[in-house]
Formats: sequence, structure tokens, C-alpha cells
Amino acid sequence: MKLPPDSTFLYVLVLFSGLAFSIPLASAQQIGVPYSRQDSLRGSITPEREWWDLVFYHLDIEVDPRKKTIEGTNSVYYTVLQEGQVLQIDLQEPMEIRAFRQEGEELTYTREGNAYFVNLSSPQKPGSSHNLEISYGGSPRISPNPPWSGGLTWEKDEKGKPFIANSNQGDGASLWWPCKDHMYDEPDSMLISVKVPDPLINVSNGRLRKTEKHDDGKSTYHWFVANPISNYGVNISIADYSHFSEEYLGENGPLSLDYYVLKENLDRARAQFKDVPRLMRAFEYWFGPYPFYEDGFKLIEVPYLGMEHQSAVTYGNGYQQGYKGKDFSETGWGLTFDYIIIHEAGHEWFANNITYQDIADMWIHESFTTYSESLFLDYHYGVNAGNAYLQGARQVIKNDIPIIGDYGVNQRGSGDMYFKGANILHTLRQWIDDDKKWRKILREMNKTFYHQTVTSSEIEAFLAKKTGFPLQSFFDQYLRTADVPLFQFYWKEGRLYYRWREVVEDFAMPLRIKQQDRIHWLEPTSEWQSTPALIEKEMIEADPNFYIFTQQIQPVTE
Ligand SMILES: [Zn+2]
Repeated sequence: MKLPPDSTFLYVLVLFSGLAFSIPLASAQQIGVPYSRQDSLRGSITPEREWWDLVFYHLDIEVDPRKKTIEGTNSVYYTVLQEGQVLQIDLQEPMEIRAFRQEGEELTYTREGNAYFVNLSSPQKPGSSHNLEISYGGSPRISPNPPWSGGLTWEKDEKGKPFIANSNQGDGASLWWPCKDHMYDEPDSMLISVKVPDPLINVSNGRLRKTEKHDDGKSTYHWFVANPISNYGVNISIADYSHFSEEYLGENGPLSLDYYVLKENLDRARAQFKDVPRLMRAFEYWFGPYPFYEDGFKLIEVPYLGMEHQSAVTYGNGYQQGYKGKDFSETGWGLTFDYIIIHEAGHEWFANNITYQDIADMWIHESFTTYSESLFLDYHYGVNAGNAYLQGARQVIKNDIPIIGDYGVNQRGSGDMYFKGANILHTLRQWIDDDKKWRKILREMNKTFYHQTVTSSEIEAFLAKKTGFPLQSFFDQYLRTADVPLFQFYWKEGRLYYRWREVVEDFAMPLRIKQQDRIHWLEPTSEWQSTPALIEKEMIEADPNFYIFTQQIQPVTE
């Protein structure tokens, strides 16, 4: 931002406002609303979850497009960590549990809303492994607004054939299959078997292990995921798909890129999906190897905008550049790529590789991934392109409520976790002032937390350690308040006076400013300081890559 000359001591407050688009994800509408027992059962690590550790799921279902039903089983393999005989499984209405079985015996259970407490009869000794088989079925909720509200979407392609997909981040995978529906625990691997009528095919996460043809005109597709996977990452995508593929030679060798699209869109997809190898190039450069070589990478057309399903990213951006043809930044840079392809694939590093334990920390997914859009531009078009994109996109920031939500109740924070979050990371990059180091940190982060579920505190501590900066107040400011640091300054008797306002205690981020062609670093705190080093009354400009507000004020008389 550029400030006018100070001769009039003009009161300048630079604000970014005027919402061009709203991002429907993460509205945090619940703030202030009391939480219920159901919120805690869903959002916390209850005693009935804590004692056992997920090892493997075999989800084995039949999807009936005509009746819009799902019927089948989920076999839950787990090891016992500590004493426990009651095990919590989640399944949301109107889906119904048919039976819980262990070692051939049907088990009793009690139920509290969406939480089922299963009474295990065989001894659960610490260190031992068990399998709980759950039969279930019904008509899962139809998503009222996919992907922002969870459920199934039952559409038709141009020829009237079924075109079906799920999306359930936030609402939970237990909308359509019974599971331990908390993010902290993931199975080490998973088998997803889905029976559908021919000629439909089902595409899920991981690799297609085999296709079973039945003599009733149906086929079962068995997809094996060789890596830990979050509940909300699990997907089914069903249509009469066309398939094409290519191989990408990446940091860890050859990576298969597979594309599943409606037959009528095959030509458009072949052109539009050229963004995929481009993003792999950029993201492997910045973040390190694609985290799921064993499972490959897939882009699958679905009847909603898109979702970061692990190794099976879903796509519904209409083969357009930008976000449904729009550019959040209004700089033109947002139209140089397909937003959904770049953004959802960026989540492979931040969401699928490094995964939040509690949705309150969803910034770990969305801030880094939105930031990855600018790094895609940075890689292909240079640093100025990425800078312009992030600065332009500030117009969608609301600064309404904190980015971090409430813990333990399945509650996300502000939608600012997208573009404000990206600008926060960009601001940290300015502070580091060494892009090689910044890249090294991002790559190390993906190694350190490889295939792990994490908390915001762990990520913050990692970044503080790697930068060597006291970042606690920085993250408290930007993630735990909705206030933007205000850089105040004035000139008096040949000195520039400056300080931070609207900041938490100890906030002391250095700031790069420019005067004419000279760069200066200031180290403002919340106390007034002064420097004689600048030319009095010459225009100064805070580096616009810092996400801050700036205000020139009347000289303060002491
Ligand atoms: Zn996202």
C-alpha cells in the first residue's frame, strides 16, 4: 500500500474490504451457540474411542442408484491400547445399523444419537488385535448443497445414466458409512469394495485391485489404499466414466495420473487436465514428493464443485479457468489455472499428508493449500505473480472471527482460513526473507509430519523452531484473534516514530518498509520507537506483501 505524503497529516487507514466473492466453506455460524452433548460425542476423543487404535477398514457396500440406497458392511480392525470393553462407532440417521458382530457373535449396544456404544464380550487385552464387523444400510442423506453440506449427490449424465458422488467434510463420513468418526485416528490402510450396476463403474481412493463381474449385471470394484486415510477423504464416485491416464516422472519416480470423466467431456478434460503435471512440478518443488506414490493420483469428475479426497481428487469446476470462471484476486492471475484442480490437489500435501486432528485447526489444510495457489504461480510465472495474486485476493477477507475454531466440538473457525491464512503464511515468508530457507521449511514440514494427524500447536512450534523466531505471539495474533496488526507512524523533528497497535502482548514482527528506492527493516513493538535513519516527510511504503494495516497519525506530544 502506498501512503500519500504526510504534509497534511492525513489520517490514512488502509482497509481491504468489498467482498467480491464469498467462500461458502467454513462459515463458523455456530460461534456463540451453545454446544450439545452430540457435538462432544462427535468432536472429542471420548473414553470409548481412546482405548483402541484403528488399523484397517474394509468397507464393502452395494450402491443402488435406483433406490438411492447403500447396503453393506464395514469391518473395523483395531489394536487395543488400554483396557476397554465399550467401543464407540458413529453412524448418522437415516442410515441404520443392522448388527455388530465380533468372532461370529452378535453384540449388544446402546445408542445416543449418532453414537453407538458397542458392548464387546470377548476380552480386549492391551496389545491384542480384533475385528468388529458392522452391517448397516439405508438411504443416506442427500447433500442439500454439495460439497459444503455433506451427503450423497445423485445426478444423471447427458445420456440419463446415474452420476453419483459423496462429499462430507465437517459433517462426517458417518453420514454414509459407520466408522470412528474423529480425525485424530486413521487406519493404516483401507479396502473399499463397491458394487454397482453395469456399465457404471465406481472410482474410490487408492488403486483398483480387481473388478469382479457378477452374473446379476453388476460389478464390484475393489480399491486398495496403501496409506493412512482420513474419514472424510474416503470417496465413492460412480458413473459411466471414460478413463485416460499418463505417467509423471516426479521426485520419487514414475507416478500414475489417472483421469475419470463423463464420456461427453473427454475432449475438454484432455485439454483442461494439463494443469495436473504442472501442479505436480510446482508442488513437488515447494513441498517435496507427492505423498501417495503407492496410491497414484486421480482426478475424477463429480456432480459438485470438488473435494480433496485423498489420491482421488474430485472435480466439478466445469472445465473452466479460475473458480467457476472467476478470479478471487481480480488480477488476472487467478485465470491462468483451474482453481479446483490446483487447490484440491494442493490438499494432498496439506489435508491428506498433514491432517488436522480437530477441525478447529482446519487452517492447517486451507491456509497452506490456498497459499499453494500462489506458489503454483510463483513457480510458473515468477514471484511477482504469486505476490499479486495474494494481495488481490485480500478483498475476500472478512476479519470476522478468529481462524481457529472451538476444540472438541467439531467446530471450524472463520472462512478467513483461506485467503487470510494464505496471506499470514506469505507474511511469515517476508519475515524469514530467505526463499530458499522458506522452501526448505515447507519441504521439511511435509517430511516431519508425513502421514500424521497434527494440532495447530505442533505446526506452530515446528515453524518457530525452524525459523528461530518467537512466533507464539504472531500465531496468537493472526489465528486466535480477528484483528489485523496496525502499523502506526508519524514524523517529528527528523525522526520516524512507529509502533504496532491492535496486537496481542509481545507481538513484535519486524516490518520491511521502502522509502524511495531504499529498503529498511523496522522492529516495531507495541511501544513507540523512533529512528533517524529515514528521510523526513518522504513517502514511506510498508512492503505490501505483509498482511497488515497502516495508519499515519498526528505527532504524539509527550
Ligand atoms: Zn480447500
